[in-house]
Amino acid sequence: MEVIFLRVFLKAVPMLLLGFFLFMPNVFAANSVTRLDGVNRYEVAVNVSKQGWSSASTVIVANGKAYADVLSATPFAYRNNAPVLLTEASKLPTATKNRISQLKPSKVIVIGGTVSVQNGVVNEIKKLGVSSVERIGGANRYEVAANIANKLPKNSKAVIANGTAYADSLAIGAYAARNGIPILLTSSNSIPTATKNAMKSKGTTSTIVVGGEVSISSSVYKQLASPTRIGGSNRYEVAANVVKKYYSSAKNAIISNGYAYADGLTGSVLAAKQNRPMMFTNASSLPTPTREVIGSKNMTTFTVLGGTVSLQSNVVSQLKNPIVGKKIFIDAGHGGTDSGAIGNSLYEKSVNLDVAKLINTKLSNGGALPIMARTNDTYLTLAQRVSKAQSNKADLFVSIHANSATPAASGTETYYYTTYESANSKRLATEIQNRLYVALNTTNRGVKIGNFHVIRESKMPSCLVELAFITNINDAAKLKSSIYKEKGAKAIYDGIVAYY
Ligand SMILES: [Zn+2]
Repeated sequence: MEVIFLRVFLKAVPMLLLGFFLFMPNVFAANSVTRLDGVNRYEVAVNVSKQGWSSASTVIVANGKAYADVLSATPFAYRNNAPVLLTEASKLPTATKNRISQLKPSKVIVIGGTVSVQNGVVNEIKKLGVSSVERIGGANRYEVAANIANKLPKNSKAVIANGTAYADSLAIGAYAARNGIPILLTSSNSIPTATKNAMKSKGTTSTIVVGGEVSISSSVYKQLASPTRIGGSNRYEVAANVVKKYYSSAKNAIISNGYAYADGLTGSVLAAKQNRPMMFTNASSLPTPTREVIGSKNMTTFTVLGGTVSLQSNVVSQLKNPIVGKKIFIDAGHGGTDSGAIGNSLYEKSVNLDVAKLINTKLSNGGALPIMARTNDTYLTLAQRVSKAQSNKADLFVSIHANSATPAASGTETYYYTTYESANSKRLATEIQNRLYVALNTTNRGVKIGNFHVIRESKMPSCLVELAFITNINDAAKLKSSIYKEKGAKAIYDGIVAYY
């Protein structure tokens, strides 16, 4: 028995090693993702605090089910180097209680009035041996924000965000905190008295307005001192625009669900402490504005907040994938009046489009931002394809073709050219070619230099794939097969991933 087991094991070793080496490039290129999880928001807050603090002389405590109080707390928490922990209104959760005991703060600052955090909770905190428990309250969220602002040192700037929407405040929180700028709140159409008074007493001479015109109307905007708006058509875009404006060289980000505020509230002060921006995601997939920023800034390290309900494992997979946010131009060759090669009752233009669409879906699911030269049977000139890639600021250009010659010619080949990005283009072509002929089980005709318009004129790394020969009966059978088209698309996709 043991001998047999050993034999099987020894036979398996070379396979294991082979597997290791085959997958090694991807493993090494993968981005780093840390998840700060918890069975509920209170535990997530505890785990966020563990990421940033091993001890703290001040801790902030706020209601975990009412975001309004704590929206403007990030600059104040950051200034006091204080993690934010969450409580229920009438009871201090066990996780929070234990964490306060571990951190041993001399001071806890409760944010919110006695409805949000009842005095019973204050007493529970005192029983943990905390010598000073303060409260920053207010009759409403605008007053709470104003009272927090008054605890910050003088600053001629103020952030103005909508007090009934949490996402915009979270997006700007870390930046405001690092720069000592108070976050004041407004309603969309009128500025509350508490906010006006706070700006007066702080001597605000310029304002950063976060959110689009739905969040903060132009009439409110016009009443503010020297306003600059960081807008966007949704919360993802607003957060992305904050990063574009204020984090020119960020390689790290904190990512939270844009519709689950509890995780973000406590993450905002961690983002400030680590000097990372916060961006948002859907539960199941990264939204386009978030991908764009990640890709354009070549971000590689992410902390994601929350469990697998608010942030599913697919989002983590996308963040780990080195193609995340990369703009990859997929050029289905020919189209419309230009059929390309014809043979064995196949039109090249259709084969190219079928495979291009499959690659497009894989790239999009993988977290990239693919751009299709064409999505249907239309004609584009070669120059139009190149200029479309250029105007979309594509990172890569991959052109998909099928070959034709005499019936005897068969196999797969990939071309690159030497005008621009020669070395990278060759590498891209090689990563694709090495996988493609294996997947299609065709003759390996190799990587070649080819003077074709689209790869000669494209300024980004580029290659042109000849899947197989439409004019060869065996190759054509594969180009007709949806199974082989899928295999080919997967190989090209894997080649692109390996390139990064
Ligand atoms: Zn062609």
